[in-house]
Order: sequence, then structure tokens, then C-alpha cells
Amino acid sequence: MTDKKKIVVLTHGGAGSDPAYADGTAIAGQMGMMGLQTGETTIDAACAAVATLEDDSRFNAGIGSHRRSDGSVQMDASCMDSSGRFGAVAALEGFRNPIKVASIVSQSEYRVLAGKGAAEFATNQDCKKLSLDEIKNTGKDFSTTDTVGCVIRNGDKFAAALSTGGINEAIPGRVGDVPLIGSGLFAGPQGAVAATGDGEAIAMKITAFRTYQLIEQGMDPKVIVPEVISWFKKPTSFGLIVVSKIGFAGGANDPMAWTASELEL
Ligand code: ASP
Repeated sequence: MTDKKKIVVLTHGGAGSDPAYADGTAIAGQMGMMGLQTGETTIDAACAAVATLEDDSRFNAGIGSHRRSDGSVQMDASCMDSSGRFGAVAALEGFRNPIKVASIVSQSEYRVLAGKGAAEFATNQDCKKLSLDEIKNTGKDFSTTDTVGCVIRNGDKFAAALSTGGINEAIPGRVGDVPLIGSGLFAGPQGAVAATGDGEAIAMKITAFRTYQLIEQGMDPKVIVPEVISWFKKPTSFGLIVVSKIGFAGGANDPMAWTASELEL
């Protein structure tokens, strides 16, 4: 008899998102779960979950992205898996699912593409466009940092994916933690981490990689999550989701919509 494979999918709607929107994170988690059950790779399933959240206008990503100070919309997204695959886009304008562009970047010779070059790359890859008029956040505007993310355990494989419209009213060109490896997200052979909140603070603490080091030390995610949240003092908004071989956990120092589902195959 072969061992059963454990599958865990966690999704978040960002630190500061209304917990009432957990229906949206649950549906996104189901998309990730379905992907895995139909043979998608772990990173593709994480990206599918995040694309579902990008299409939910209540969250600050994709179609629900917040505006910059000049009224423009610039989005960041990234994905990573435990085999070392990583790709990201920064300050991308005019595309519906930045996470899909990040995923294509992760399969290219590049790791991060930004701005005009990222948009040209996405156009060449036939990625779906999104006009400025179509972008509107329909959430209750609980917070400016209600962005989206997913982490997955698929047996002994792990992946993480993130997408954001960035901090509301930030100046054009501002890039947060999301496309910086080891800041907003990290995945390795022992687990995966996806953070959310104040991108500058998250980046300066190399948060996702340092969280991953706690996983490597054998710490339970249920202990890791409050520990890492304690690195951030209010009013700095911060949240994270974590999965490892030991278990999973999520939390934030603000309200946060997030969900988890588990399955054994
Ligand atoms: N971390 C994102 C950023 O600073 C925002 C968020 O997670 O809500 O761009």
C-alpha cells in the first residue's frame, strides 16, 4: 500500500480585508484544490487560486486593484515553488491576471520584469488585457492592504503565490514586498510562506525567508504565525499564511479573510 499524499491549500485576502469575504478566499482555495486533483503542478494550482482572487473585485489585486496617487493602477505579482522556480512582475499596467504573467516569467530566462518591459512581455505572451475603466475595488475599503495570496502543500512539494495592486495612493513606480524573493513570499522543500501588509516593513525584515528558516528549525506553523506577527508593531499592518510538513496556520494583526482546506489523496 502506498502512503496517502497530504494536500493543504491556504488562501488569504490580505491583512485588513473583511473576514466576511472568506467566501472568496474559500472559492479560490477550491480552484487550487481542483487544479491539484486534476494533475496541475503545485505552482500552477497556487497561481490558479490567486487568479481567482484577482478576478474578485472585493480584493486589492487584478480587477479590484487600488489606484496610485495619479489615478493609474500598477500591479505586482510573484510565484515560487520548492524546486526553486520563481518569477515576478512589478508595476505592471493593463493586464487582468498579473499572476499569470509572473508564472510565465518564472519559466523564462528572467526572474523579475517591471513596468513597460513587463507589459510588452505580457502582450507578446497573449495575456488578457484589462483597461483602467474596468478596474474598481468593490470591497468595503476596510484597508489599503487587502491584497491576495496562496500557499500549497502537495505531498512533499510546496508553492506560494501573491498578487497586489499595492498600497492605496502610493506614488507610481512604488514596488512593495510582493515581487521581492524572500520578502513577500518564499517556498522551499520544507514549506511555503505568503505575507501581506505594509510592503516596505515586510521587505526590510526579509520576512518570508526568515519565516521559512523557522519552518526549517522544525517550529510548528501555529507557533510561527504569532511569533512573526510580533515582529510588526501596530499601526504597521501585517499578516501571513504558512504551511509546512508539520501543519499550517494563518493570522494577522488586523482582520483578514483567509481559509484553509485539507485533503488526503
Ligand atoms: N504587501 C503589499 C504591498 O505592500 C500590500 C498588501 O499585502 O496588502 O504592496
